[in-house]
Amino acid sequence: MVAGTTMGNEADQGVPAASAFPRYEQTFPTLTPQEIARMRRFGAERSYKDGERLFETGQPGPGMFVVLSGHVAITQRDGFGHVTPIIDQGPGQFLAEIGQLSGRVALVDGHAEGEVETLLIPPERLRALLVAEADLGERIMRALILRRVSLIRGGAGGPVLIGPSDSAGVIRLQGFLTRNGYPHHLLDPVADTDAAELIARYSPSQADWPLVVAPDGTVLRNPREAELARAMGMIRALAKDKVYDVAVVGSGPAGLSTAVYAASEGLAVAVCDTRAFGGQAGASARIENYLGFPTGISGHALTARAFNQAQKFGAEVMIPVEVKSLDCSYGDGAFGLKLDNGEMLRARSVVVASGARYRRPEIENLADFEGRGVWYWASPIEARLCTDQDVILVGGGNSAGQAAVFLSGHARRVHMVIRGGGLGASMSRYLIERIEAAPNIELIFNAEVVGLEGTKDGSLERVRWRSRLSPDEITLNIRNLFLFVGADPATGWLDGCGVLVDRAGFVVTGARDNAQGNKAEGQLASALETSVPGVFAVGDVRSGSVKRVGGAIGEGAQVVAALHGFLGDAAKPAL
Ligand SMILES: Cc1cc2nc3c(=O)[nH]c(=O)nc-3n(C[C@H](O)[C@H](O)[C@H](O)COP(=O)(O)OP(=O)(O)OC[C@H]3O[C@@H](n4cnc5c(N)ncnc54)[C@H](O)[C@@H]3O)c2cc1C
Repeated sequence: MVAGTTMGNEADQGVPAASAFPRYEQTFPTLTPQEIARMRRFGAERSYKDGERLFETGQPGPGMFVVLSGHVAITQRDGFGHVTPIIDQGPGQFLAEIGQLSGRVALVDGHAEGEVETLLIPPERLRALLVAEADLGERIMRALILRRVSLIRGGAGGPVLIGPSDSAGVIRLQGFLTRNGYPHHLLDPVADTDAAELIARYSPSQADWPLVVAPDGTVLRNPREAELARAMGMIRALAKDKVYDVAVVGSGPAGLSTAVYAASEGLAVAVCDTRAFGGQAGASARIENYLGFPTGISGHALTARAFNQAQKFGAEVMIPVEVKSLDCSYGDGAFGLKLDNGEMLRARSVVVASGARYRRPEIENLADFEGRGVWYWASPIEARLCTDQDVILVGGGNSAGQAAVFLSGHARRVHMVIRGGGLGASMSRYLIERIEAAPNIELIFNAEVVGLEGTKDGSLERVRWRSRLSPDEITLNIRNLFLFVGADPATGWLDGCGVLVDRAGFVVTGARDNAQGNKAEGQLASALETSVPGVFAVGDVRSGSVKRVGGAIGEGAQVVAALHGFLGDAAKPAL
């Protein structure tokens, strides 16, 4: 904690007008007395005196408050002590945002203005309300999501990052927070004198950039994602002795789908992801082949909905938390999942939804420029860095095609370097047509990138590539190189348990024989069960899966029936 960074809590400006919030009526609806009467069984009345705090930025939120009488002022407070009014809420209005579904820390302060009577609904009862009161639940859920969206748009409630907007650390942490739908604010010392002063005072060495100021005033220097997440209360310690019904490893489409179906059917579900929800799909600028979205939807938007939905049903999603290994040696019938923070997560069954990790091709000096001009992802953050520049994109599959089309809207020119002699065999027709129609995408077939060169400060400056048909190398001045060259299954963490994988490393399911398994003679393993009873696999990580968002989501839904079968009929809801 840096002393002296927290100032008083006097509001700096007046409360913004309703017009400052798009979809105000949906974001801050007023409930009728009849609706409040229906909600009473989920909570308990609480009274507050003038000035008393109902919830505090950075502290776990107690749940959702419904204002019965009086007014509550909602304000945003950053790590510098700046207080900005957000809104006043009165009788019939409710106070919460999406984080309260899982008891996450509050992103804003709320204090009573005069005497206030409220109905406090704690997180688990709020989830029960959303499920039991469908119409009301839908309105509340929509408001909770829209409120988070407003906080993200305004950069309110989260950490303040201080550092040059194009520095590797800023891009890394902005990417992490953005992918996880977490509000934050960036102060660039180039444009902001206060930020320049702070940087000079607390983090003069570039290696410490960015400084991150949490709402409680804690200052971190160029933190790892997990350190930042802990400081922000995004991850919590595991409850002691808790054994979940199912642990899901990975929160891509397959893991999120498993979580939604399993949690909605009453199973106690824990989900871990090492990076962000959405998995590979989160990198997709526009998914056009997922059923029900005729105009397409970005992978982030699709999976953000699933992430919220999983929490609505009570799944505990832990990000960023990497599962390092699976321990099958406990004698009590539950598995142990060793987490990167040293904790052991216990669960009676495991769903492997760890998908695939991008490949790193053989390119000289590649590792030196990762995060400093070499990208495996093309989101608006990376696109901003390419404005009016030439970029190289390597790959000829659908993910490369989508990224090329997306980047062509930002970069001056996209040089697409493809090993093969054409796109027909590897890319969908609709993407080929879009690429052909984009005047600033240049296709370079039978070619490969061979080496990278950069500046003293580590930024990429030049890319060497050559035609596979001639030995000559060509050097281009390029500051951003995108690699979309496929992915390998993320199964290293399964090594210790004897889970069967195929020659390429994908998890084999449905093939367990009775010699390996412990089921009675004649009982077949579920189509999604691995060689280890109680361990299931879904999505891209599974041998023979279709490697599509739709397939991953379908398998997540399907595996829940097998989980019920394994865990016993007691866990199965009456249909
Ligand atoms: C750029 C791009 C565009 C695409 N576009 C489309 C499209 O338009 N249509 C389509 O149908 N498909 C598309 N795909 C494919 C689609 O995204 C995948 O098929 C889908 O994401 C697979 O989902 P999954 O949940 O099985 O795995 P993944 O999406 O790979 O998710 C796995 C998750 O597991 C996590 N993880 C891995 N190991 C661990 C561990 N040890 N501990 C904790 N967490 C771990 C990862 O961080 C990741 O979040 C695209 C893929 C890419 C890369």
